[in-house]
Amino acid sequence: KGELDYKTDHKFADLLQDKTEAVSDFAKAKTLSEQRKFLPIYAVRNELLNVIRDNSIIIIVGETGSGKTTQLTQYLHEDGYTNYGMVGCTQPRRVAAMSVAKRVSEEIKCKLGEEVGYAIRFEDCTTEKTIIKYMTDGILLRESLRESDLDHYSAIIMDEAHERSLNTDVLFGLLREVISRRHDLKLIVTSATMNATKFASFFGNVPVFEIPGRCFPVELFFSKNTVEDYVDSAVKQAMQVHLQGMDGDLLIFMPGQEDIEVTCELISERLGELDDAPPLAILPIYSQLPSDLQAKIFQKAPDGVRKCVVATNIAETSLTVDGIMFVVDAGYCKLKVFNPKIGMDALSIYPISQANANQRSGRAGRTGPGHCYRLYTQRQYKNEMLTATVPEIQRTNLANVVLLLKSLGVQDLLQFHFMDPPPQDNILNSMYQLWILGALDNTGSLTPLGRQMVEFPLDPALSKMLIISLEMCCSAEILIIVSMLSVPAIFYRPKGREEDSDAAREKFQVPESDHLTFLNVYEQWKRNAYSASWCNEHFIHIKAMRKVREVRQQLKEIMDQQKMELISTGNEWDIVRKCICSSYFHQAARLKGIGEYVNVRTGMPCHLHPTSALFGMGYTPDYIVYHELIMTSKEYMQCVTSVDGHWLAELGPMFYSIKDASKTRQERKKVAVEEMNAMEEEMKRAEELIRARKEH
Ligand code: ADP
Ligand code: MG
Repeated sequence: KGELDYKTDHKFADLLQDKTEAVSDFAKAKTLSEQRKFLPIYAVRNELLNVIRDNSIIIIVGETGSGKTTQLTQYLHEDGYTNYGMVGCTQPRRVAAMSVAKRVSEEIKCKLGEEVGYAIRFEDCTTEKTIIKYMTDGILLRESLRESDLDHYSAIIMDEAHERSLNTDVLFGLLREVISRRHDLKLIVTSATMNATKFASFFGNVPVFEIPGRCFPVELFFSKNTVEDYVDSAVKQAMQVHLQGMDGDLLIFMPGQEDIEVTCELISERLGELDDAPPLAILPIYSQLPSDLQAKIFQKAPDGVRKCVVATNIAETSLTVDGIMFVVDAGYCKLKVFNPKIGMDALSIYPISQANANQRSGRAGRTGPGHCYRLYTQRQYKNEMLTATVPEIQRTNLANVVLLLKSLGVQDLLQFHFMDPPPQDNILNSMYQLWILGALDNTGSLTPLGRQMVEFPLDPALSKMLIISLEMCCSAEILIIVSMLSVPAIFYRPKGREEDSDAAREKFQVPESDHLTFLNVYEQWKRNAYSASWCNEHFIHIKAMRKVREVRQQLKEIMDQQKMELISTGNEWDIVRKCICSSYFHQAARLKGIGEYVNVRTGMPCHLHPTSALFGMGYTPDYIVYHELIMTSKEYMQCVTSVDGHWLAELGPMFYSIKDASKTRQERKKVAVEEMNAMEEEMKRAEELIRARKEH
């Protein structure tokens, strides 16, 4: 869900097309083609192209800002590779894919989406003409499902490989095989200084090409004492830098959107309290920020105005802002980590690694000597930070990856060639989840349901819900609900008007379900001719709703290809609730006290979110299922629907039975553990069997 950027509904291209050129100081003085020649990578252009000609796979290492992302694709194009296929470049982040494609389209002087385009989930900004395609690594992974040899491409650049995103790691294993089959395909893996030798040996001791960097010394300042409140400290540090009057822009690293917003507000508040403080352009950047605002970080501030960019780790290596001389590093980032307590991934704040810290400080030394203020002690850096972040594949749920690999015919996942194999428990746990959903059978093979689930670019439970909705004759309704769940932040609560917006939201609420509330919002919007003013009146993000409509359309196209009909239940919304239950029964909670719920399987307390339709309505059903858990001060269930206890027994027989009520929780838990162990055993046996068969 979090993977979407709903603000990109008018294609990013249109949003920016009429904007004046994004120019930095330096850019102002030089044309785009002169700027290209100034980048470090330009000095080694021909040498680099020779190495690429002579090798199928190469690793390229270079400091952030040396021109890897924007130039390599163009060099390959200029060298003729686009005559027989596209040049694809993958990014772990959506924002980077869009922003870089935009930049390269300007350098090549084409309209974004024509020769140079991008694709991210639910947004394809490419055409027949496209020869340079930027995309998220998730997109390329899905393309490999349709076309396992990636025949449309003559070269693939896997950019930002040091990030070690889950999809990049899976692609590594797959592309190694593709290259062995396709000798005309070039694979270029780029990394910002770390891990190069590891990559090289993984691909069979391929050459590592280093782009000589240009970087200036950065003076490091550690905090003397442990910092209690990093937002407050960062604001103080930023003010001090700004007021002491040295030239140069400022970059502050924060873990996420909430902290970024507070930091921006506090800085502007403190500046407002001062008489004649020098002006400061405060620019936030995070993935959910509307794209037109994202583009602002690249624009030059008016003369004499200092820029202060407040960013997530997106500015660490993915995006380069020129002119930064000061970095303030809070020392934290948000990571998705599998949480065994809740049996799923949770996004939480963690200390960064030393590698991250060094990348962050490096941002201050691109254009001249810089300063980096670390809001942690030198001891914390040395003793408490990991050398490098644990790769995503070793810390997150792998259900989607398992589903994908199984459908690519990789039967034995424990044998798949991962650079760093995920812990066996992770694989088995993910397989167990897929088994619960009916995507895998007892031998660990894909079921017909599982095979169909792969077609949808959605989390397994959402795909399943969509497929089951056909049998239950409510696919029209479920399609809308799935689309609404795929777009974040439908409602907004502007400062000072919280009560009005809450009242507006309440009008849509269907007392027994947040899912149905979403459905209700969409249907009313449709009845009001998809009007923008209607959205404004009701505190609903129009851009989010347009994105929902687009997502719905795209999912509907997949349903059409799959010959899945749209069937409406009309007003029979109980059927819709039952359908939701069919895919979320494993995330069920039971009423324990007034407004208190506990997870049915684990007994863990969990709470209704205050924005839920069920919150404070005086109506608290005995059983509910939830879409996801968010962990803040408490465990909150996000998006819940009341269900009938009998449905749970009917739809989730591996967990619940009606007779169970007489058993104690301990006994039920024991049965659940036994079942899981039995399943694991069975799958292990199946895998051993397959392995043995292969060996003979
Ligand atoms: P690398 O991938 O090696 O980190 P890039 O190719 O991303 O380097 O960046 C090269 C140069 O292009 C940098 O100076 C950067 O500021 C500039 N650049 C990249 N993207 C944009 C953009 N969207 N707008 C303006 N300048 C950009
Ligand atoms: Mg780059």
